[in-house]
Amino acid sequence: MSALITLNDIYKVYRMGQEKIIAVNGVSLEIGEGEICCMKGPSGSGKSTLLHLMAGLDKPSKGTITIGKNRIDKLNENQLALFRQRYVGFIFQSYYLIPTLTALENVAMPLTFCGVPKNKRIKKAKELLEAVGLKDRMKHKPSEMSGGQQQRVSIARAFANNPKVVFADEPTGNLDTATTFEMMNLMTTMAKAWNQTMVIVTHDNEISGYASRIINIRDGKIEKIENGRDFHDEEINA
Ligand code: ADP
Repeated sequence: MSALITLNDIYKVYRMGQEKIIAVNGVSLEIGEGEICCMKGPSGSGKSTLLHLMAGLDKPSKGTITIGKNRIDKLNENQLALFRQRYVGFIFQSYYLIPTLTALENVAMPLTFCGVPKNKRIKKAKELLEAVGLKDRMKHKPSEMSGGQQQRVSIARAFANNPKVVFADEPTGNLDTATTFEMMNLMTTMAKAWNQTMVIVTHDNEISGYASRIINIRDGKIEKIENGRDFHDEEINA
């Protein structure tokens, strides 16, 4: 598997008055194309900071980050915005849907930024909402849907622009156990079908079962890397 994401000796230091907080403390890591990778660790260990750095939402204090051919630590704000529109999808714990827009409009939104014409945007958004099982909720606004349904919309939105990589930050943190499994099946099935890479931040052991590798983070460092369920399935089938 060739590397899609390469982190080389990454540091992220925050300054709070006199205090220096080393959120990421020298992380080097390669994530393969099509890999489903989980970053696990206690609260405050630096998982979200690492995810934000990989997704081009924040810049490292030191080190290099490459996604495909892009050195994202070198891009300026405008270039980063373009990079995110074209290559990246996001799924967040609290969905971040636009409350005044319908499910269909929310899913079509990223395609607007990519310059896709309206009829194509609507067609793609409908296909995705059908794929996540929301065919009969397309005209509903977020407040008219359950938490699980809202997360389905946000999953459909994350995949709308055919991203190379989907980043998910505690995607099931607000959901019950049954819905958590449903959402994890949905996300990972979609990513595998289209050979997309997924990086999922979680502190939930159940979720890490969906990953091919589990990167355990502690105090801003990689503590250990474990092989996940997929690996064992491959071994058993081999
Ligand atoms: P996790 O996602 O594992 O809970 P975070 O990446 O959110 O951890 O945080 C890692 C450390 O960096 C924590 O000590 C947190 O308080 C600190 N931190 C995160 N973001 C900021 C920020 N914007 N300013 C200052 N400190 C921050």
